[in-house]
Amino acid sequence: MYPKVKVKLKGIEENTRIVCEKCKNYGIDVTGVTKAFCADENIAEALISGGVRAFGDSRVLNLKKLNTFNMEKWLIRIPMESEISDVIKYADVSLNSEIKTIRLLNVEAEKQDKIHKVVLMVDLGDLREGYFNEDDLINDVDKILQFNRIDLIGIGTNLTCYGGIIPTAENLRRLVLLKERIENSFNIELNVVSGGNSSSYTLIENGTMIDGISNLRLGEVILLGRETSYGLYIDGLHQRNFILQAQIVELKEKPSYPIGEIGMDAFGNKPEFVDKGVMKRGILAVGKQDIDIEGLTPIDSQVKILGGSSDHLLVDLTNTNAIYKLGDVISFEMDYSALLKAMTSEYVFKEII
Ligand SMILES: *Cc1c(COP(=O)(O)O)cnc(C)c1O
Repeated sequence: MYPKVKVKLKGIEENTRIVCEKCKNYGIDVTGVTKAFCADENIAEALISGGVRAFGDSRVLNLKKLNTFNMEKWLIRIPMESEISDVIKYADVSLNSEIKTIRLLNVEAEKQDKIHKVVLMVDLGDLREGYFNEDDLINDVDKILQFNRIDLIGIGTNLTCYGGIIPTAENLRRLVLLKERIENSFNIELNVVSGGNSSSYTLIENGTMIDGISNLRLGEVILLGRETSYGLYIDGLHQRNFILQAQIVELKEKPSYPIGEIGMDAFGNKPEFVDKGVMKRGILAVGKQDIDIEGLTPIDSQVKILGGSSDHLLVDLTNTNAIYKLGDVISFEMDYSALLKAMTSEYVFKEII
């Protein structure tokens, strides 16, 4: 059945092993991030075989799916007040930046007779989550240490997500120094300094990762073999672990320039066209409800994507050596955003190989 994503478990497992070993050389363990594949159990198992030390996901529902795995589970999105009870139930660790929320976690952990681990997030300039002011953070640490059901295990940061800020030895050193400041101020030990996501893996790859970082939360580099500071593919990692396949439902010669007065397309934008004469045009049965069209790259590089709407993807097959027929299947590589959507869409079948 199509459309479908073919998932190559071996490639994912091998990537995990290579990435985890390289991190280990720097004393860094890996929280394998499962959100891009909706915490599919088979893929999660491949991450375990490859050597991740914990699972991380932004959705409690995904952590719930992983409940049967005897692995530490991290909630990597700041918890909602409305999900506190499930956070305590399904996450061993959560990333936090609000004392009010941590207080609620403490109360709920008491109710469920649990100890909940907390990593405090520090905003090093990317301007997404985390304490921006270090004194605010120190004040809150003082309060958190009074909570008897909360175990403050460390601090962390997230970069290259909103502001596009690249992790460097310089900004990560701020994190390590802050960890030392907390340890000295309160005479405690923090085991976790979580230095970011796949964009921080770049420092491992080019040999400039600093001492003192003890954890990275990694998804994309493992799944797609790509670091995310510069979007570079990493030698030695498998890049085609997820392939989208869609079937041709119409194949006709048509003009490349629409006929009539041009108003809006299906999404309210005014489209523009270049007249390239008559084309061999294919329609594939997949659309914006399932994928991010901009994130697709045809494996046959002679296939050109023309555009698409909710349920249709239009391709130009005029200049292909391969001869495509109605009913044939066309394959695509996906970027992170396309992968996230395809794995989330219930209209896309998943085939694990
Ligand atoms: C998604 C996410 C990650 C993993 O990001 P990748 O780019 O897939 O490595 C890590 N940390 C947080 C907080 C995230 O939201």
